Amino acid sequence: MYKIISIILLITIATITLGQNSDTTMEKSKKNTVKTEVQWQEELTGDQYRVMRQCGTEPAFTGKYYNTKDEGEYQCAACGHKLFSSSTKYDSGSGWPSFYKPMDGTSILEKDDNNFGMVRTEIVCSNCGSHLGHVFNDGPKPTGLRYCVNSISLDFKPVSDSLSNSE
Ligand code: FE
Repeated sequence: MYKIISIILLITIATITLGQNSDTTMEKSKKNTVKTEVQWQEELTGDQYRVMRQCGTEPAFTGKYYNTKDEGEYQCAACGHKLFSSSTKYDSGSGWPSFYKPMDGTSILEKDDNNFGMVRTEIVCSNCGSHLGHVFNDGPKPTGLRYCVNSISLDFKPVSDSLSNSE
C-alpha cells in the first residue's frame, strides 16, 4: 500500500516539476527582458519612455532614422533585440522609418490597437514588449506591409560597425 502511495506521490511531483519547467521556458521565449516600469523609467530617456512604454508617437519627419539609407541593422533601443534590416527599409513618405518586413518571424509581436477610434495593429519588441509603432496593409511588394516605426524606439548599427568589431 505504501509503495503505491509513494509511486503516486513521485508521479505527481514529477508532473508538477515538468509543468513548471515548460511554463518557464514558454515565458522566456515570449519575453526575455522583463523590467518594472520604475526600471524602464530609470533606463530610458523621457521621450523614449513615453513612446516605448506608454505607446506614444514621435512627430513625423523629426526622428533620426526616417531618412537613413545606410546598410545595417535596427535593434530595439530598450533591449538590443534585432528588429529590422536596412535591406527591407524603404521611403514611405510618412516621415517615420518604414520597413516591409521584420528581421525574422520572431523579431516582433503584433497586438490589436483600438485607441483613438481607429483599428490598428500595434507592433512591439518580442523580447521586452516595448512599443515600436504599427503595421499597415499599404506597403510595397513582396509583403504589401508597412511596418511604421518610431526612430526613438530603434538603435541603428551600421554594417561598418559589425565589420570593424569582427576584425
Ligand atoms: Fe526590446
